[in-house]
Amino acid sequence: MTTEKTPPEDTLTLPRKVVSDMYKVCAELLGDTGYTPPPPGSTEKQLPDHILELIVRRYYLSTACETAEALERAIVRYRDHEAELMMWRDRMHAECRLNNKFTGVLCDCECHHRDDA
Ligand SMILES: [Zn+2]
Ligand SMILES: [Zn+2]
Repeated sequence: MTTEKTPPEDTLTLPRKVVSDMYKVCAELLGDTGYTPPPPGSTEKQLPDHILELIVRRYYLSTACETAEALERAIVRYRDHEAELMMWRDRMHAECRLNNKFTGVLCDCECHHRDDA
C-alpha cells in the first residue's frame, strides 16, 4: 500500500478556535486564569437598589454557612468522623462571604452573631 491518504486536516483536528476555547475553559476550571473572586462584601454582582426593593427578603444563609450547617448535622450522625467534620464545618463558616452576591442581603448564620467574631 503506497497510497496512504491523509485526510484533510480539519476532519482530524478541531478548529483552532474550538481548541483555544477548550483550553480556556479547562484553565478556568483549574483556577488558572489569575481570576480572583471579589472580596467579601463586594457589591459587584448586586442587583440595583430599585430592583431589590421589589424582592421579598427572606432569611438568607450563604452556601458556605448552609454547608456548614449540613456538616453540623452530620457530626451528630457520624461520630467517628467528628473531628474531620468539625474541621470542615469551621472552615465553611470561615468561608462565608457574608452578603448575598446578587441581593446584598447579609447571611443570617449564627456564626456571625457570636461575640468572639
Ligand atoms: Zn456560618
Ligand atoms: Zn454566613
